[in-house]
Amino acid sequence: MQLPLKREKDVKRRWREEAKDKILALFKTAETKTEHQARELMRKVRHLALRHRIRLEPVLKRRFCKYCLTFFHLSKNSRVRLIKKRLVYTCFYCKRQMRIPYKRK
Ligand SMILES: [Zn+2]
Repeated sequence: MQLPLKREKDVKRRWREEAKDKILALFKTAETKTEHQARELMRKVRHLALRHRIRLEPVLKRRFCKYCLTFFHLSKNSRVRLIKKRLVYTCFYCKRQMRIPYKRK
């Protein structure tokens, strides 16, 4: 594989920074949208993240269902429970669960 030129690297880095900003903006917008609209926004988020190889922060990761991309309005369309030292998110839309281990302080 050919190494990219340094300048090309810089351009890509800037794209990535821009994409990160876009993702944050999308999350903000999603909070005010309906479930269906928010799902479309999450689709964009995932697309951007994959396209630019951005790893979503853990805080953002748990804001939506990774299976059906439903944006979680907590207690409205999702449930969070602590089970065996894990945060278990249940999505009411696809009824699937995400388990996230957490550290006890
Ligand atoms: Zn779901």
